[in-house]
Amino acid sequence: MPEQLQILSTLKEYFGYDRFRPLQQEIIDSIFDGQDNMVIMPTGGGKSMCFQLPAILLPGITLVISPLIALMKDQVDGLRANGIKAAFVNSSQQENEQQDIYQKLIDKEIKLLYIAPESLSFIDTILSQIEISLIAIDEAHCISSWGHDFRPAYTQLGYLKNRFPEIPIIALTATADKATRQDICQQLNIPHAKQHVASFDRTNLSLEVRPGNKRVEQIIDFLRDKPNDCGIIYCLSRKTTEMLADKLQNSGYKAAAYHAGIDHLKRAAVQEGFINDTIQIVCATIAFGMGIDKSNVRWVIHYNLPKNIEGYYQEIGRSGRDGLPADTLLFHSYADVVQLQKFANMSGNQEVQIAKLERMKQYADSLSCRRKILLSYFGELITEDCGNCDVCKNPPSFIDGTIIAQKALSTVARVKEEEAIGTVIDILRGAQNAAILDKGYQKLKTYGIAADIPWRDWQQYIIQLINQGYLEIAFHLNNKLRLTALSKKVLFDGQKIYLANLKEFEKKKEVVTKQ
Ligand code: ADP
Ligand code: ZN
Repeated sequence: MPEQLQILSTLKEYFGYDRFRPLQQEIIDSIFDGQDNMVIMPTGGGKSMCFQLPAILLPGITLVISPLIALMKDQVDGLRANGIKAAFVNSSQQENEQQDIYQKLIDKEIKLLYIAPESLSFIDTILSQIEISLIAIDEAHCISSWGHDFRPAYTQLGYLKNRFPEIPIIALTATADKATRQDICQQLNIPHAKQHVASFDRTNLSLEVRPGNKRVEQIIDFLRDKPNDCGIIYCLSRKTTEMLADKLQNSGYKAAAYHAGIDHLKRAAVQEGFINDTIQIVCATIAFGMGIDKSNVRWVIHYNLPKNIEGYYQEIGRSGRDGLPADTLLFHSYADVVQLQKFANMSGNQEVQIAKLERMKQYADSLSCRRKILLSYFGELITEDCGNCDVCKNPPSFIDGTIIAQKALSTVARVKEEEAIGTVIDILRGAQNAAILDKGYQKLKTYGIAADIPWRDWQQYIIQLINQGYLEIAFHLNNKLRLTALSKKVLFDGQKIYLANLKEFEKKKEVVTKQ
């Protein structure tokens, strides 16, 4: 393992930084120790450093598997500008260019090789002729159908560990809930990989959800006190991006649309303009922003409900990367929910997609601190409310929900965390359907213990408990309800729980559905 001093001087010499960001050091040490590693770090957290720095110091070549062909050139150019011998191989190159790189690999003139998973098989024979020191798998969530960006070409990557059992693998992603994380390690054959989960808490981002009526007017109003701040508006359809860009231009903003249907020269121009501040607002479908390194995006608006929390969090995470305050606004409309349900039903793994959409909807409907929900989704539990979301700033009235919570949590415990919301509510309300009676649930101590609370209210209370981190949904296990580390405090330590007054919830919901 290189000396600490050597690692730090490499950081300074090649990247110009004096110190590591959180987790980078321990990840790098673990690589030098020869271990497999799994890194979960929000966008902008500094994932690349975790393999780029070791690549410089390790004796052989570091292979970087990345799906972002469009960004490979930029990344490699950036490394070369810092004096690091990097190259990429992908389908956009001429054969002689590729031959040239292969020769350099054999001649040990390359330290970092970026390659798309589809291209791996082409360099198979070369791989046997060179010394590989590290394999980095960027955007590793693409391997998992639990993830939100599944790419079939990633599924073959499991063979890497079998073929190179001695070489450490580092898998990196910004967007993985617990189920996805486990799935990634399993599929890459690195079940014992050391897990490094950076905090996802971005306290400088304000969170706000509003009903999606008269969205254009609301946006123009939102922009009134931000005349020069740049931002991104994410939309579901290409048509909406163009409509919005038009309207914003008419209101005097330098706005542009960006989607996959626009030819690539124009798209590159929009991206360039946004980076150079000549375009202030980009109205985009999800295709925009991956890999854009712009630190002063001051706001992000979701014109439509995103299809899952991972995507949403990644997108709002593109604002405020400089650590200064940034505002995010999500419009919630049930028409979007219906649309997204249709998309989910057409997708390959519809149950997972539907469950994730359901979670997104619960976030938008929430009457408790939204940041708590986001963080608990990524497995991070905070006990204090954040103070920087619309619910914290304008809280609903609360009732003492301690007894309600105790009843629900003890029912989940008594069914051994084997049932989903519906059955748990049926037990609490003493339902007599076959599903309950067949399993003998009528004998449970909590059976029928809270029949006075209507079904729909129970559903809301349980969602609030999930949102506050006292329960979680195991998406990969038929949505069974599970207890969390916080549940014990309620069940055994008598911790008080506050639940939002449902009468108020009904009022808010009316506004949303009426538009
Ligand atoms: P990610 O891949 O996690 O989205 P990047 O690797 O692109 O993030 O890093 C984001 C930015 O942070 C880059 O501009 C990078 O140079 C910078 N960065 C990385 N490590 C450090 C560090 N230790 N100190 C300061 N800046 C860093
Ligand atoms: Zn909050």
